[in-house]
Amino acid sequence: MTDQTISTHDAIHLEHEYSAHNYHPLPVVLAKGEGVYVWDPEGKKYFDFLSAYSAVNQGHSHPRLVHAMMSQASTLALTSRAFHNDVFGPYAKYITEYFGFDRVLPMNTGAEAVETAIKLCRKWAYEKKGLDSGTAEIIVCNDNFHGRTTTIVSFSTDPDAKNGFGPYPTGFYHIPYNDLDALAKALERKNVAGFLVEPIQGEAGVMVPADDFISEAQRLCKEKNVLFIADEVQTGIGRTGGLLAVCGNCNCENKCERGSSYIKPDILILGKALSGGMYPVSAVLADNEVMMVIKPGQHGSTFGGNPLASKIAMEALEVVVDEKLTQNARRLGEIFRSEMNAFKEECDLIQLVRGKGLLNAIVINDVESSSTAWRICIALKDNGLLAKPTHGNIIRLAPPLIITEEQLMSCISIIKKTFTEFLVLHKKSDTIQA
Ligand SMILES: *Cc1c(COP(=O)(O)O)cnc(C)c1O
Repeated sequence: MTDQTISTHDAIHLEHEYSAHNYHPLPVVLAKGEGVYVWDPEGKKYFDFLSAYSAVNQGHSHPRLVHAMMSQASTLALTSRAFHNDVFGPYAKYITEYFGFDRVLPMNTGAEAVETAIKLCRKWAYEKKGLDSGTAEIIVCNDNFHGRTTTIVSFSTDPDAKNGFGPYPTGFYHIPYNDLDALAKALERKNVAGFLVEPIQGEAGVMVPADDFISEAQRLCKEKNVLFIADEVQTGIGRTGGLLAVCGNCNCENKCERGSSYIKPDILILGKALSGGMYPVSAVLADNEVMMVIKPGQHGSTFGGNPLASKIAMEALEVVVDEKLTQNARRLGEIFRSEMNAFKEECDLIQLVRGKGLLNAIVINDVESSSTAWRICIALKDNGLLAKPTHGNIIRLAPPLIITEEQLMSCISIIKKTFTEFLVLHKKSDTIQA
């Protein structure tokens, strides 16, 4: 890059000195992005295998998203919903048809959308299901990640996320993930209003449940008149090789056609890639029966549904269809896992490879408390590929969905080379003591 303004060293130093220490980033500074690539201030180029936690499924600075954003920003950016704007209505029609729901409630961040779903679920429980006011319970899973608000962290089982932020709101009941018996039992409880679940647990380390977990969970909820709430903030919008992870093996591939294997949630939560990373845009989708319990004044957000967000989200969803990103994620995901599984046989460092579409993880063959995954990520960075460990000794690998097969093969080579070098440099016994 020629217009370098600040070095990697200085950028990290300033952040360390003046920012809250609420993250532990890899020591890399990014100054430019394009497609699957990002560059640091010194001009070193990397493959981005985090994609901002799956927010940039469409790739960095997608030209169509840049154009949509620039043209709308210079026309009208924010009105608040005290007035109507001329983009939100078309966007509402577009996104509801796209996913097959009656209505959308627009928000900004994923956590806000989860909060919105919780409010909707509770209000529905009192007004439609007839639960006594203030008694509604929502079933959640162990090791969930739904965001960072005080209510959401109150039902996190991660001590770092939760501890020290009480007092905690109540009304949540935990079951193990991917456990239908536990769900069936929990559904026997008295005041259950909803079941909030990630169809694949991303932050927990890309935990893919049994094939029938989601469909059976939905069936059990329906039987008990309990809302099935899918948090697809990370898994949705092509990432897992279906338009949504709840699409299962649905083959409609483009716009959702409510195909036979589409497991339609009562409430669908989207965020992240809904804007292709351009802007915080999240959404909650539901049918009339649920959505219409919210009346004017009962929920909202200054920025939710603004023209800029609406325009960007429409374009971001359109790009997913036009560029067949879902299909690409499905096809390249198969290649990635089969290559990495073959490599696992010869690499002692890899315990397991799992995932769906282009949301994958390598589980490192080492004790959970070791820093091996972190150190491998540093080595990957040095070799030109950026990824980050998730909980435990797990590396999540999630490139933008626009990645080509050729690019993916280069990335697989980098990963193999890095693991092989790592094994030579650090005998496994050293890493265990690390
Ligand atoms: C990232 C994420 C969220 C929170 O989204 P923010 O935009 O960071 O608030 C919620 N749910 C899931 C599954 C996520 O991955």
